Amino acid sequence: MHRDCVFKTAKQQRALFELLESLGGRSPVEHLLDQLKFSPSVLKGLEQRGFVSIEEEIVGRDPFARRPPVQAMPHAPTREQQAAINALRAGSAGEIFLLHGVTGSGKTQVYIELLREVVEQRGQSAIVLVPEIALTPQTVDRFRAVFGDKVAVLHSGLSDGERYDAWLALRTGEKRIAVGARSAIFAPLSDVGAIIVDEEHEGSYKQGETPRYHAREAAIVRARNDGAVLVLGSATPSLESWTNAASGKYRLLTLPDRVAGGRLPDIEIVDLRQLTKRMSASRELHTGAMPSAFGTVFSPELEDALAVRLELREQSIILLNRRGYAAFVQCGACGDVVACPNCSITLTYHRAPERLICHYCLHEEPPRTECARCGGITLRQRGLGTQQVERLLAERYASARIARMDVDTTSGKWAHAEILDRVGRDEVDILLGTQMIAKGLDFPNVTLVGVIDADVGVNFPDFRASERSFQLLSQVAGRAGRGPKGGRVLIQTRLPGHHAVRCAVAHDYEGFIREELPTRLQPPYPPTVRLANIIFSGTSQASTAKLALAGAEWLHALLRARGEAGVTIVGPAPCPIERIKKRWRWHLLVKAESPGVLTRVSRYFVERFEVPARDGLRMVLDRDPVALL
Ligand SMILES: [Zn+2]
Ligand SMILES: [Zn+2]
Repeated sequence: MHRDCVFKTAKQQRALFELLESLGGRSPVEHLLDQLKFSPSVLKGLEQRGFVSIEEEIVGRDPFARRPPVQAMPHAPTREQQAAINALRAGSAGEIFLLHGVTGSGKTQVYIELLREVVEQRGQSAIVLVPEIALTPQTVDRFRAVFGDKVAVLHSGLSDGERYDAWLALRTGEKRIAVGARSAIFAPLSDVGAIIVDEEHEGSYKQGETPRYHAREAAIVRARNDGAVLVLGSATPSLESWTNAASGKYRLLTLPDRVAGGRLPDIEIVDLRQLTKRMSASRELHTGAMPSAFGTVFSPELEDALAVRLELREQSIILLNRRGYAAFVQCGACGDVVACPNCSITLTYHRAPERLICHYCLHEEPPRTECARCGGITLRQRGLGTQQVERLLAERYASARIARMDVDTTSGKWAHAEILDRVGRDEVDILLGTQMIAKGLDFPNVTLVGVIDADVGVNFPDFRASERSFQLLSQVAGRAGRGPKGGRVLIQTRLPGHHAVRCAVAHDYEGFIREELPTRLQPPYPPTVRLANIIFSGTSQASTAKLALAGAEWLHALLRARGEAGVTIVGPAPCPIERIKKRWRWHLLVKAESPGVLTRVSRYFVERFEVPARDGLRMVLDRDPVALL
């Protein structure tokens, strides 16, 4: 070989080696050869000299890369959409908009028109956050349909190589729109002109584990730093965002109607208390005729509505926000409920395989044959779960094609998208599921939504329980009637007078806010105050309680010494779920009107208050918690 050639090859090997180092030491081979144009011989040479190794990696096929294109723009913008688009395009750097649009009002189209301006006209980049990417493939498809290769979809199903490719493409500007769940807010884009947080009310934007952050809060900071316009979109905005819009901190844009002349579906209440009465009355009339198991779960109204849909070959969605077969198992003799040995919550009964499972620590055990307390053998399954509803439906409608979507049926990475695609291809008559089926789905042939039990969650020991119930009911109702056939929603409840139920039925978001806000005043909860939850935990119940009490005392002394006004301490008290994974839990709430004061006080406390190194004692600060369980 000629000297020059050797020299040149060595130089290229060196360049490739340095590049690999700068890429964190790893890169897909195709990337080096195809995009960066190194020759295979250069790579081979490095390998022969022992500087690099080439390994086979199992590459997950990214389904977003091979999903078929969808129709980009079904309608010209409505007047309201156009007004929102104009306002967003004229938005100033760091300005925050709250886009309140009813379900089916075409929020995604507004986002797309904003991105056209920002990305195509101004040549900037953009970030789009969606709550959970596996649950919103249709939304993602629409961005891809319009912006094609400019979109990088960031999701947990990517292989290391694919994730790496996506981040590099964003950093080099090859791709200009990052679409993803909460962590996409950190996408390595420069010159970001717009950030969109879709379904901004969703709890999944809060990362529950360290580093704890709320993607909506992170988006506000990034929009300010990058000079981007921020859009928070929702049919049911969080109370926090709504009050910020009301006070003028955010600018409110409203889409009050569905697009293309669509109407919001009619929602009817089925009062389960009446159903129980009717059942016991009919039992008295026909002695011995017990209502069927189906009849105890599905009211005649819901049953009729389902039968009509099956007849017409239209689709139905059935929501029950509780997975498993039965919520708990109870002794018929002494009333004892089977609980998790590690947590202070009941075990859920699952079938196929038959197990008792803790939904918090995943403890599993075989079902018992006798009560651990009294030895009784009449153990009853109480409280309905999706597995049981699926069985009831399958028994009643033998020829119906039923799909169940909950955590248990979607453990595979692409299970969600597969189920939803089947619904989209009309291969499913009844889609049954937990809250997973309430988000963002747009199937024109779904003309019935049935809620088995609206009260699951309303009585949760959490200050956001009503808000979450209202959001869930509104969102799932919004899945009905998105096509020309219209739609009907039936909500079964024992609490028809509860404002979460009543206002969802009336499509009355502002009415809900009017009733909910006063409940956050006394005692004050967000959005009236900002909240920090300090959680103490440990393996010993006594030392955990002692630590929490000492913490509260320390904090009170600090506030007194500093003369810090406007900060309230509540507690300490045992957490609503007192024990999780064998650890006892106590907590302390710190409330302040000013977020700055809250940060200063809670940080100071967490940094200075000493946690003894025994009994596994730990302390965690959860700023702006989404739940207090
Ligand atoms: Zn018993
Ligand atoms: Zn457990």
